[in-house]
Amino acid sequence: MDEELFFRLLFIAIYAVFFGVRIRYRVGSTRREPERRQKTVSKAMKMLIVAILGYFVSIILYMLDVPWISWSRLALPPWLRWLGVIGAASSIPLVAWIHRALGRQYSAELAIQRDHALVTTGPYARTRHPMYTTLNMFSFSMAIMTSNLLVLFFAVLVMLPFPWIAREEENMLLETFGEDYREYMRRTGRFFPKIKQGPK
Ligand code: SAH
Repeated sequence: MDEELFFRLLFIAIYAVFFGVRIRYRVGSTRREPERRQKTVSKAMKMLIVAILGYFVSIILYMLDVPWISWSRLALPPWLRWLGVIGAASSIPLVAWIHRALGRQYSAELAIQRDHALVTTGPYARTRHPMYTTLNMFSFSMAIMTSNLLVLFFAVLVMLPFPWIAREEENMLLETFGEDYREYMRRTGRFFPKIKQGPK
């Protein structure tokens, strides 16, 4: 089979499984009416929405293989594209694990649910935003798979607003959980696990 066609089909297959897992958990979350939600849409959130739209459009163009974006084709070596396959495929069980740990606390928007519990176990034991890290790992790995500059550009653009979104989310959780969250922040890393434990 043609190499390019092979990676395209693999892209669709991985995306379908990922989408299936995400939908399963997201559908449950839309039925809940949160106790409190962030009222204003911050600049970072707006930037994320634009970047995600761009990412999807670039994927559609890549899939349709429209001739006028052939300039964006990169000649990435197959081993690197395979690394993308491994990264994307392994983020699927990770996302499922994280969703299960966060449970009914999950929402697509920044919100506090009724009886919102602070989750500090499993993937949340050492990292405060494992879902953001894994979702970015997924979209970046998928972009490497496509070996397409336009898709890669938007994958990077998607990542940029997350430090601000995470800070916003942390402020909301600090307001809700106070000292418990402050203490949780001390023993965790924002996007990657904190390895070194501070003095107790
Ligand atoms: N930023 C997290 C969660 C994403 S879902 C991550 O990347 O893994 C977004 C919702 O999760 C927010 O509305 C917030 O209320 C909730 N949330 C984030 N961290 C939490 C925690 N440690 N315990 C409970 N809820 C949390």
